[in-house]
Amino acid sequence: MCGVIGIFGNDDVFQDLYQGLLAIQHRGQDSAGIITYNGRFHTKKGNGLVRDIFTAEHANRLRGNIGLGHTRYPTIGGGRGEDAQPFQVNAPFGIIMAHNGNVVNYTELKTLLFEKYHRLLNSDNDLEAILNLFAQELEEQNVRQLRPEHIFKAVAGVFKRAVGSYSVVGYIAEQGLVAFRDPYGIKPLVWGARRDGIVPSYAVASESVSLNIMNFGDIKDVGAGQALFIDRNRNVFKKQIAHCPHSPCLFEWVYFARPDSFIDEVNVYRCRVNLGRLLADDIKKLHLAIDVVVPVPDSARDAAIEIARKLNLKYREALVKNRYIGRTFIMPADRERKNSVRMKLNPIASEFKDKNVLLVDDSIVRGNTSRAIVRMVRECGARHVYFAAYSPPLRHPCVYGIDMQTRTEFIARHSDPDQIAKKIGADKVIYQTLDNLKKAVRMESKKLKHFCAACFNGEYVTGNVTPEILEDIERERKESWEKQLDLNV
Ligand code: SF4
Repeated sequence: MCGVIGIFGNDDVFQDLYQGLLAIQHRGQDSAGIITYNGRFHTKKGNGLVRDIFTAEHANRLRGNIGLGHTRYPTIGGGRGEDAQPFQVNAPFGIIMAHNGNVVNYTELKTLLFEKYHRLLNSDNDLEAILNLFAQELEEQNVRQLRPEHIFKAVAGVFKRAVGSYSVVGYIAEQGLVAFRDPYGIKPLVWGARRDGIVPSYAVASESVSLNIMNFGDIKDVGAGQALFIDRNRNVFKKQIAHCPHSPCLFEWVYFARPDSFIDEVNVYRCRVNLGRLLADDIKKLHLAIDVVVPVPDSARDAAIEIARKLNLKYREALVKNRYIGRTFIMPADRERKNSVRMKLNPIASEFKDKNVLLVDDSIVRGNTSRAIVRMVRECGARHVYFAAYSPPLRHPCVYGIDMQTRTEFIARHSDPDQIAKKIGADKVIYQTLDNLKKAVRMESKKLKHFCAACFNGEYVTGNVTPEILEDIERERKESWEKQLDLNV
């Protein structure tokens, strides 16, 4: 999971990129980068949070009215500094690029690029494959001034070869800003305009919240299989290049995206409220004696409030989060996850003592965090602890960019809810159904007919996800975790 931003503005864009990246910091906390352009490229990348990487010195140095920003959680490639985005190639013209997603056939593309086109990929980052494919496609057209048809042909060439999810923004020096979303539109991408000069400024971002914060309006999605080109004169060109069923990632609405964002025109907050309402109906049928509903902060709050309201129960924010500890789900190593639960959450004991508690969380992945929370709540004197996840059981690795790629790690892989309850020490575990998750999104938009739900049902929308590819990705993940553990020792 990563966040991208690209701006074609009227003044220096560094401050906007910085603010925009802060707004999508939740999409990746491992590294961040900004490249700006004013006749040449200016780069700053680093490991860590946006606020720690960029300083006043960078604001002075990274000049230019065009730029890209990226915040990254490692998928393929681990968390090494040289894998931080955006990336750059010198020819043709000079291109910079950033993406969110994961190219499933990365290894095959790396070999193809070297053997057929003699392009060496110098990192383990799958974006480098997309960037070089795109550059190769442009180079083969051999033109001095790119027109939209050249860009769209190059994007079609990328679509033909790259399998997976990729929401991409790039800039081609003195030619224009380009953005495209893979044929299934798995990960989000939006664009908007700001009338702040003789010609408008344009921006592209992973989430609408970045555009809100930078004061861009007229926000639209880059559609699945669509490409957008804003040329040097700020003329906007769009083309539908691929025609696959749009299948956005369901987990964006469950957990990844900010509640104030719109993903494919569906507000994340409203979707989480719907999820709470639908789950409340299922909980009601179980006739549990519940005294209090407590969310696991922060993402579960919206759904938990709705569950309490619908069931006419007390709602208490009795688990207090230390905001300055990273999200456990996106910390790279399990060892870190185990250690950080207690540091991250502290219970208000009086709200649990002698109560039957319904804890609400967005999901249960490996079960370590849930187990630690249930234990904490029991230590506070709770009589019964019920655990509700407002998403369905996670059983399959995500190959499209989310760090939960090791099959054996999912607690629900071979266990039913009662067995999971036993494993995490709860009296009962209640899950959302997949049908209700889809329904919660569709309640807000009739346009969405298909979704990526592969981590729930194992059906990979792009096809081509062979057992060998799954094994490759798992090996990559394990190696990169081990590298990070070595670095952390
Ligand atoms: S597999 Fe799950 S997390 Fe990955 S893109 Fe699909 S729905 Fe999202």
